[in-house]
Amino acid sequence: MAIQAPLSKGSQDPNITVVQQQLIALGYGLPRFGADGVLGDETLYAYGVFLVSQGLRAPADESPTSITPAGTAALDMAFAALAQGGDIANIIDERANHPHSGRSVSMPYRLWSQITAVVLHQTAAKIGEKPASWHSVPIHFGITRAGKVIQLYDLTEVCNHANGLNRRSVGIEIDGWYAGIEGKPKTLWQPKNLPTPRQPMDLPDVQATAVRATVQWILNTVAVNGGTVTHIHPHRQSSKDRQSDPGSLIWQAVGLWAQNTLGLSDGGREFTVGDGLVIPEAWDSRYIGNRY
Ligand SMILES: [Zn+2]
Repeated sequence: MAIQAPLSKGSQDPNITVVQQQLIALGYGLPRFGADGVLGDETLYAYGVFLVSQGLRAPADESPTSITPAGTAALDMAFAALAQGGDIANIIDERANHPHSGRSVSMPYRLWSQITAVVLHQTAAKIGEKPASWHSVPIHFGITRAGKVIQLYDLTEVCNHANGLNRRSVGIEIDGWYAGIEGKPKTLWQPKNLPTPRQPMDLPDVQATAVRATVQWILNTVAVNGGTVTHIHPHRQSSKDRQSDPGSLIWQAVGLWAQNTLGLSDGGREFTVGDGLVIPEAWDSRYIGNRY
């Protein structure tokens, strides 16, 4: 977004909403009015602090009374740099190629400091290898069976993927259908009216490796931007309708790995959000007596 002429105090303009969203995402909070599209003192103050941080204004100068084209250009650059944080070789960036309709209406954006968790899902479908096929999936990352990492949303966007965990988490969808409990095909979720029931899929090494790399990338990227990811959850923990999500195979290959290797927490034996379900003993042998 680049404005052509300065916007002065009191203006109402869609570009001001964008500026406000960028300021919030960059960590310059607007706690009273948020991204309301009106250029008031709160936004001008945050904008002024941002300009100081970029070396574009001296701290002693009077607060800005308008937003300038040069200021919005600096905001655009800082905002674009936000998403770059970590390093992942084969990431496919689809963020600019779909309308972001999976974003939360009540809280579309968040601060980096509000990102504290990763949530793992199985798609319970076969979305496939074509990036465009993922455009309507309301989540930050999709991981294909061939191990492609497709990014759909910025980490500072809140997506509707995991019920009560949405606001704090980055979501990863792992393509395929997997048993809720390995070795028990009846725990595989079946769509209605299939001529023949599905059989559970395996988890290819290349896909598991890509999911683990993505978890690591999320941790690095949030850390570079001043936040800290401390938790990893299965979708099951935030929805009773997602009993098999993502299933024991994925949970053990990634969820337990992230706890043992990266020091993340699953919240513990009793942890749930909303009407979610605890992690069962069949997924994690520490949780003796936790039912599926
Ligand atoms: Zn899910």
